[in-house]
Amino acid sequence: MFNKEDRKQFDRLCEKIRDGKHPVISAKSIFTCPCCGYPTLSSRCKDEICPLCSWIDEGQDDKDETEVYGNGNFNYSLKEARMRFAVDFSIYDPDDSVRSIPDNNDIQIRIRKAIVTIYDLIPDSSAQATLFDIVDLLLHYFKKETLHRIQKE
Ligand SMILES: [Zn+2]
Repeated sequence: MFNKEDRKQFDRLCEKIRDGKHPVISAKSIFTCPCCGYPTLSSRCKDEICPLCSWIDEGQDDKDETEVYGNGNFNYSLKEARMRFAVDFSIYDPDDSVRSIPDNNDIQIRIRKAIVTIYDLIPDSSAQATLFDIVDLLLHYFKKETLHRIQKE
């Protein structure tokens, strides 16, 4: 389940990174995604696609989580997408035809699960900066691969 407290921890960490008060230098992801709650975005409210959960950040957040904007996130409210991702690492209903888009096969979902496992280690780890850097690199490599594959299909 999407956890608002966990997201707050990552929000504080991202703020430190943005302010240059954290030893992580190369991380590109310095804002938390409103859907999966992990630090996966380089900006907020600019239609950036989360490389982890695929939510398109149109600016929706806690205050309007039950609304369905109906644009790039199809007929999903943020609240529903959050619950789906927390349960099976995809924001789409398994019976929905959009689920079959190329970034939702089993390998993609397993990679997401592994990335989430690393993220979950970060708050309590003494190797926080290293883990953050590793997961950030993995995530952006994963995003490039996904985009490359979608373009080929
Ligand atoms: Zn996300």
